[in-house]
Amino acid sequence: MLTFRNSQTIKTRGFKTLTSDIGLPSTPETAPKTEQQPSTTHRDIKNYAEATLGSGSSLAQAVKLPIGEDLDEWLAVHVVSFYNQINMLYGTITEFCSAQTCPRMIATQEYEYLWQPSVSSRTSNMGSASGSSSPRKLAPVSCTAPEYVENLMSWVQDNLDDERIFPNKTGVPFPTNFQTLVRTMMKRLFRVYAHIYCHHFDEIAGLSLQAHLNTSFKHFVLFCKEFRLISTKDYGPLKELVLIMFDGNDLDADGDTDLTDS
Ligand SMILES: [Zn+2]
Repeated sequence: MLTFRNSQTIKTRGFKTLTSDIGLPSTPETAPKTEQQPSTTHRDIKNYAEATLGSGSSLAQAVKLPIGEDLDEWLAVHVVSFYNQINMLYGTITEFCSAQTCPRMIATQEYEYLWQPSVSSRTSNMGSASGSSSPRKLAPVSCTAPEYVENLMSWVQDNLDDERIFPNKTGVPFPTNFQTLVRTMMKRLFRVYAHIYCHHFDEIAGLSLQAHLNTSFKHFVLFCKEFRLISTKDYGPLKELVLIMFDGNDLDADGDTDLTDS
């Protein structure tokens, strides 16, 4: 049985890399729990992509739920994987993404992603998704792109570390709202791809990482399409790119498992 639990180490390392690359001070809550890890290198991403995807594998086939596999477990494996991929991709361009270069978290001038702080947050996150508490929501605020990404990745990491949401022990069920949370996480993680594509693609290309970005994003979209995690309209600034990737086919048209809200 495939388990996301094996990915925990990678997940933690990825976040540490992001934190150090951004140069943000570590709070007690987000401080590395073990030794400092080295910064992301291009080789890391290549190795990770190869390990994740395998050579010559069909991405469209790879995202399908294997027979006998638990859907929640499959979703969990992929949330961790995409979190790591996005973390490493963004980690390569953090020197180009600062409060000066990117004072707002935008994707083209048409889309700005606002941050939703909550009163009971630990690190100004978007609130616990466990359903065990209902933090009062404040008005969404505009923030710099690096701040937004830091907050977003901290929020995802907090959820991944919460045993009530991502149980670490085999056989422990996922919470009833797990698939709703997965949709929210994927929708928010998409925004990092959007910012990178719209504002840092030249730097990605300068690092010869465009193939990795494209493969990672295509894998992400295929997975979201397979389980209907993100609707076509949510691709907003990248909708054209997504449609080109899929030859203009309607992303909402198929998918074996429909997990959309309504
Ligand atoms: Zn930026």
